[in-house]
Amino acid sequence: KKISADDIRKSVKEDDVKFIRLAFTDINGTLKAVEVPNSQLETVLSNDVRFDGSSIDGFVRLEESDMVLYPDFSTWSVLPWSDTTGGKIGCLTCSVHTTDGKPFAGDPRNNLKRIIEQMKDMGFTAFDIGFEAEFHLLKLDENGNWTTQVPDHASYFDLTSNDESASCRRDIVETLESIGFEVEAAHHEVGDGQQEIDFRFDDALTTADRVQTFKMIVREIAKQHGLFATFMAKPLQGQAGNGMHTNMSLFKGSKNAFYDKNNKYHLSKTALYFLNGILEHARAITAVGNPTVNSYKRLIPGFEAPVYISWASKNRSPMVRVPSAGELNTRLEMRSADPTANPYLLLAACLSAGLAGIKEEKMPMEPVTCNLFDLTEKQRNEMGIKPLPSTLHNALKAFKKDQLIQDALGEHLTQSFIDSKELEWSQYTQTVSDWERNRYMGY
Ligand code: GLN
Ligand code: MG
Ligand code: MG
Ligand code: MG
Repeated sequence: KKISADDIRKSVKEDDVKFIRLAFTDINGTLKAVEVPNSQLETVLSNDVRFDGSSIDGFVRLEESDMVLYPDFSTWSVLPWSDTTGGKIGCLTCSVHTTDGKPFAGDPRNNLKRIIEQMKDMGFTAFDIGFEAEFHLLKLDENGNWTTQVPDHASYFDLTSNDESASCRRDIVETLESIGFEVEAAHHEVGDGQQEIDFRFDDALTTADRVQTFKMIVREIAKQHGLFATFMAKPLQGQAGNGMHTNMSLFKGSKNAFYDKNNKYHLSKTALYFLNGILEHARAITAVGNPTVNSYKRLIPGFEAPVYISWASKNRSPMVRVPSAGELNTRLEMRSADPTANPYLLLAACLSAGLAGIKEEKMPMEPVTCNLFDLTEKQRNEMGIKPLPSTLHNALKAFKKDQLIQDALGEHLTQSFIDSKELEWSQYTQTVSDWERNRYMGY
């Protein structure tokens, strides 16, 4: 829906907005924001709020650090709670521009827009995305810090009406709906304390913006309930991790280009080519979709997370699944990514890979019909099924070899991403853990 500058002026008055929060996302997917008092409203609306970009991860060097925020008016929302002064906070998601007014190439949001333009040049009108971001609710200690204690021991779809988790989840849903989200489902997940809340699919940019707001709201409401929310991929060892299933389809006007009623699984050729693009670039996409050391502790057998590059219609062990759905909802569900991914980078990578697949017109491998974990490595090799990268290090190696996925991020973001992730990996490899001491101290 379109929101004008005047609509925002009106809302600031009527909703008693005292502060305006201008948000954008850094290379790591962290939401950053500056807040200005409502006296600065006109500065906000005329794209004139400046900030120093040199301290933002993945942004710029000191000598060229002045950046300008261009708010996307359609993202305007007013948080339902008041600040300490009793006023409300209005939020806008922004694109970052340089002082000469150009979109800044190091802003992941601008980059996604760039890839969406490439898609439009190929005749598609929308890349529709539905995310299923899972998270854990954890108890706090007496100092208000997180613990690994969970507030509930319920399981998948359990109906637990009295515990703190369930009431927190309902509060999150209500808050989301009050700021314009259409929540389709909210349920307990498999793991202790694990939750899932799904909001309706929309075009890629809107959904990426929303998932950032979603995570902020989940954390905030959890805090109000005396809990800590984490989107870490595998917070609890031996339990289910947090995935962010990515449901994708391409539209031409009102027509779902992935749908063909005469084809198997109702998938069009376009969808199958797109799927092949995803599978061919799967290893590099994983670096972007699973960008933390911990992400790879989720991609193991036994917890409904994928380990192999393959696809299926019903089976949930492969990387991509084709859920059964009607015409509008026919889609590919990529099950590998987790909620630590930067959604703008992830969607740019997936879209680029899919579009490349469409240009190539190559059919994907046969879908798998068995449980891949029951096969031997030899059998999987014979079927042409390769594993996803097993560590961040291996994923980065694949990323560095994949020119298409690097182009999907563009030069600036590719370099920032590699720098940031190599540092993370090297810090990790230098860390001596309790596991090592317990295992090796007696040697
Ligand atoms: N938690 C699982 C994962 O890691 C997904 C479980 C599910 O949604 N069926 O992806
Ligand atoms: Mg789900
Ligand atoms: Mg789930
Ligand atoms: Mg799913």
